[in-house]
Amino acid sequence: MYDWENKEIWTNKKNWDKQDSPKGTKSLILTFDDGPSSVLVELLDILKKHQVRALFFWQSKLLHVKRPWKRVIEERHMIGGHSLRHRVLTRLSYRDQLHDISTNLKQLESLTGQEMIYFRPPFGQFNEDTLDVLKKLNVMPFLWEVAGLD
Ligand SMILES: [Zn+2]
Repeated sequence: MYDWENKEIWTNKKNWDKQDSPKGTKSLILTFDDGPSSVLVELLDILKKHQVRALFFWQSKLLHVKRPWKRVIEERHMIGGHSLRHRVLTRLSYRDQLHDISTNLKQLESLTGQEMIYFRPPFGQFNEDTLDVLKKLNVMPFLWEVAGLD
């Protein structure tokens, strides 16, 4: 279920536009899903070369300690949650969604030592239970304005 009516909220556009951008300019948030992937190093090199910061959404399934998550933080990118193993959350009960999302976020927090602020539901699919869980965990949902395939 997509809720494109709520675009402003779901992309957190307002929050990001406030950030140190000169008046009249538009900001763009580059986000990468389904990591940390094996191309993370190449990706970080490209972002560094162009001095661009990005927001990464990571799945617990792909969290290998050896992936360069430290570099992600050192180079001032952000990390958000993207579930345990990319299941469609709307097919899960409230309890299972709570378990999936909170475990994903806890794992990311214990690995990186950073508090997780954002969560992107796999395939952009969410329902009332997802929203209740995110509210309970004090995490903001984050969808796309322009997206590739998830
Ligand atoms: Zn995804």
